[in-house]
Amino acid sequence: MANRVTIIDDAHAGERTIRRFRLRVRGVVQGVGFRPFAFALARQMGLSGFVLNDNAGVLIEVEGFGADAFARAVKADAPPLSRIDIIEAQEIDTNGLTGFEIRESVGGKSATRIGADAATCRQCLEELFDPASRFFHYPFVNCTHCGPRLTITKRLPYDRVQTSMAAFAMCPACRADYENPLNRRFHAEPVACPACGPKLSHSVEAMAQAIRAGKIVALKGIGGFHLLCDAKNASAVATLRQRKARDEKPFAVMLRDVAAAGHFADLTHAETALLESPAHPIVLAASRGNLPHSVAPGLTRLGVMLAYAPVHHLLLAALEDGGKVPVLVATSANPGGEPLVASNEDAHRRLSGIADLIVTHDRDIVVRADDSVMQIVSGAPAYLRRARGYVPEPVDLGSDGPSVIALGSDLKNTICVTRGREAFLSQHIGGLDNAEARRWRISVPSSM
Ligand SMILES: [Zn+2]
Ligand SMILES: [Zn+2]
Repeated sequence: MANRVTIIDDAHAGERTIRRFRLRVRGVVQGVGFRPFAFALARQMGLSGFVLNDNAGVLIEVEGFGADAFARAVKADAPPLSRIDIIEAQEIDTNGLTGFEIRESVGGKSATRIGADAATCRQCLEELFDPASRFFHYPFVNCTHCGPRLTITKRLPYDRVQTSMAAFAMCPACRADYENPLNRRFHAEPVACPACGPKLSHSVEAMAQAIRAGKIVALKGIGGFHLLCDAKNASAVATLRQRKARDEKPFAVMLRDVAAAGHFADLTHAETALLESPAHPIVLAASRGNLPHSVAPGLTRLGVMLAYAPVHHLLLAALEDGGKVPVLVATSANPGGEPLVASNEDAHRRLSGIADLIVTHDRDIVVRADDSVMQIVSGAPAYLRRARGYVPEPVDLGSDGPSVIALGSDLKNTICVTRGREAFLSQHIGGLDNAEARRWRISVPSSM
């Protein structure tokens, strides 16, 4: 969608006049660190006023010298997971008050939307591998720029008590980060650390050992379980294929970064950008043909994705020895074409005949979401499976219409609900010819 900004007229630019503007910011602007961003920017520009979330998005008032430049700066430097559809600016009377504050939300906190899950950001990755950080080697590190969203959310408004993080009381250090508008974790609802957050059932080293020994590991991730094995080990891949009864369907592979992915796929610029986008989808790309035949039998293309949860990064780092590039088969744990396994109980019940090691954690997955699958067609990204990382971001219909519910097909099912000009598509659900699929929890919360 084209971004539009109503630019405040420049007639007064450079004039040393105190002015006050009310800015209405619409788009994906809640739960993405927008308020602390506006707070920090206003302080940096020496402006007074406030920012708050309301039912229409974010409302900001700024006053001071250069208040007119604020809207442009908001547009230019917006937080990575936000998407500004429009900023409407209106000049209003000054009130002479000083200080800038984040105000309580109006009409229900962050009432309008839940964000999509986002891959671990660069800053969290640095902390993950920094021995001096309190998040060192912590498999659930996240912040407002990354981490689980939809998959942990039970209902709107998006707030910690409405997510599966409600079971974890924040420690003083996490609480301080959560309450500090200048911290990257200000109101990051899933914030957690080794002292207070979720834990894995097994060590990363235990997983790495199993992979090195050619075993199959079931690992609970963001939207469900993966089945993992060493993609270079032909007998491990063949065993996985046989146990999963997957015939000839290709397996996707997971790598640490695009440099590693480049060893196995010939990536274009567009494919690289898509791999590194916050959604971190599986991208179909030209295979270099240097993995065992059984990874993607008879195909010239390979499904590639980058590690997107901290635990993936830890596992791939643990497997890195002697400069060899680790590459994992990472396929959805959905035995017999049933929906993805997402609960610990389900994993033990449905995966014990497939995986040699089942690794769970105690943060519940509320909404299942498979890995999204995409390819570049004529230079632009196209969806083959729209799920984790994209759902429940609405599709803009371009104009208002009546509320409609569409229940989709029997095979490769997806449902859709519309609200005004927005269409909320559920994640890929798959075939409906089994009991598990009928128990599926869809991703459109009831209060949307
Ligand atoms: Zn982060
Ligand atoms: Zn903590």
